[in-house]
Amino acid sequence: MNLHEYQAKSLFANYGIPVPQGQSVSSPNDARSAAQALGGHVWVVKAQAHTGGRGKAGGVKLCRTLDEVEQAASEILGMTLVTNQTSPQGLPVNNVLVEEGSEISQELYLGALLDRTRSRIAFMASAAGGMNIEEVAAETPDKILTTVVNPSTGMLPFQCRKLAFGLGLKGDQIKQFSKIMMALYRLYSEKDISLIEINPLIVTTSGQLIALDAKINLDSNALYRHQELVALHDITQEDEKEAAAAQHDLNYITLDGSIGCMVNGAGLAMATMDMVKLHGGEPANFLDVGGGTTAERVTEAFKLILSDDKVKTVLVNIFGGIVRCDLIAEGIITAARSIGVPVPVVVRLEGTNAQQGLEMLESSGLDFLTAKDFTEAAKKAVTAAA
Ligand code: GDP
Ligand code: MN
Repeated sequence: MNLHEYQAKSLFANYGIPVPQGQSVSSPNDARSAAQALGGHVWVVKAQAHTGGRGKAGGVKLCRTLDEVEQAASEILGMTLVTNQTSPQGLPVNNVLVEEGSEISQELYLGALLDRTRSRIAFMASAAGGMNIEEVAAETPDKILTTVVNPSTGMLPFQCRKLAFGLGLKGDQIKQFSKIMMALYRLYSEKDISLIEINPLIVTTSGQLIALDAKINLDSNALYRHQELVALHDITQEDEKEAAAAQHDLNYITLDGSIGCMVNGAGLAMATMDMVKLHGGEPANFLDVGGGTTAERVTEAFKLILSDDKVKTVLVNIFGGIVRCDLIAEGIITAARSIGVPVPVVVRLEGTNAQQGLEMLESSGLDFLTAKDFTEAAKKAVTAAA
């Protein structure tokens, strides 16, 4: 689960990481009042959407009058923000963060993530922070400094100093940087974060380090122990079908192809997508209906797949281990009767009660294409979709 910048900054503030004063609002009028309440002469109006790259996409505006703040908010609110990190469909912007403007002398980068190879949390920092950090990482990776935390000791102060020296910080800024990095580690661990980024971490013209941007991805598997974070979930930032699938405990990911896949087990789902591609087709989705699935979930899965108008064929590939194939067949038949199936459906059942399931499909009077094995199923689906 991702957080908005304003939510992440509020967590930063709780952990003692300096952030600009600001307020999240949802109308141009409130943006004006927020700026007035903040005072000062320069404000920033920032689109709140689950993406970076907002600056380059017109989602971050520097304003010098209250009229400009109101104008910027009215332009940004309601826009569909398309950045180099979103899909071409973009993301809706329902809130803007109005902040006091900062005077920047340097833009640094500081981030942490789980390094899966080392099984440890790795911190990265760079003196070349700001809007081009991706290019820096790709073209001049030596400008990214790294340190890895030993979980039995936690982050040690020398690790912070090492990065601070590497960034060329001096005197009090080394202390400020170390404090921020220690706080970031504590936040990362306590809230079960999987990725945290401050880009840019600025040095102001008066020498203060401030987190000007904030990105947090939470580990969804640990959300059950952070109810206060679950409350920050913003469903408007997610793919509609994926959100609906999550409500029925279905593991669903939208893809670009024309063959809708309904499979049980993540491994079999991956193999099915490979098989479809091998025979010249493109999967429209990844869908794992789960190991112990029921007829109701099969019906929901069917609805979900068919709600995608790119789908020209449905391929059902089930291995009955714990789940019984006759129950799956029942779910497919119920779904087909209740919602209708406007496209060809290829079904391959294997394992527990497979024969019984196939017979049910054949005697249902509905027009299913059955297949005896995996290859035949994939070939039939590709042909039907073409
Ligand atoms: P992102 O593009 O989505 O990563 O959004 P950021 O929050 O990082 O903002 C993009 C850029 O806007 C930053 O790298 C800064 O250069 C600039 N920016 C943001 N806030 C301020 C500010 O208060 N003052 C100034 N001068 N620039 C700012
Ligand atoms: Mn940024």
